[in-house]
Amino acid sequence: MSEPAVRVECLSFRYPGGLDVLSNISFTITPGEIIGLVGPSGAGKSTLLQHLNGLLPSQLSDTSNAAVSIDGVSVSQSTIAEIRRRVGFLFQDPDDQLFCPTVFEDVAFGPLNLGLSNEDTRQRVRDSLTSVGLAGYEPRSTLRLSLGERKRVCLAGVFACQPSVLALDEPFSSLDPRARRMLIAILKQFSGSQIIATHDLDIVVDLCHRVLLLDGGQLRAAGQTRDILGNVALMERHGLEVPWRLRPK
Ligand code: ADP
Repeated sequence: MSEPAVRVECLSFRYPGGLDVLSNISFTITPGEIIGLVGPSGAGKSTLLQHLNGLLPSQLSDTSNAAVSIDGVSVSQSTIAEIRRRVGFLFQDPDDQLFCPTVFEDVAFGPLNLGLSNEDTRQRVRDSLTSVGLAGYEPRSTLRLSLGERKRVCLAGVFACQPSVLALDEPFSSLDPRARRMLIAILKQFSGSQIIATHDLDIVVDLCHRVLLLDGGQLRAAGQTRDILGNVALMERHGLEVPWRLRPK
């Protein structure tokens, strides 16, 4: 059996001074699998995603029982650089991710940090921008792009590091229908594993092999996309609606 791309075991978490936000979460993602992470606002979806690449410092103590591993590598202080190379994280708001004046500098930041030469970096930037439909955008200012373009620049920056896992936080929010379709097509072409936190359940039906349903920090259901999202009672119990595509005609 090959190593799962993502393994989360008995993960619990609370923010300092707060209540439990994640309680005893366990799941695995196989290589190439696309997982929809669904649940009402405040369920803990963003917090869970942030654990996949060590964005939350509490888990980084090397003496803690590591609850998360990527391609068999446990997330810890000593592996954090390796983990961040393997997990491409897309923030909900591109303004949390973009910080350079030009598209080139932003997309090049990751590869340069990985130690690639200037020439290899330029090639990676070119390839990544082409893969998100933004070929030739290198000199453009990141401030003068539409929201959909800014999200795609973020994704190009993620692809430029050639991750094996994508962790995407509400990637479709605030995009117009054309930008959504483009993003869906880009994600369908990515060959690694993906976990996508989203309220766009019709897109989950289109894109995701399996679904994890989180509510109140607990994993309430996990299974094939249509079995979970088409289960009226389950969806209503957790404040969600069966997506249009799965409603009886
Ligand atoms: P979701 O992504 O499902 O909307 P979040 O992971 O953002 O859920 O939030 C889960 C819970 O954790 C919420 O109750 C939220 O208020 C709380 N929370 C999120 N971020 C922080 C933080 N930085 N500090 C304290 N509490 C937080």
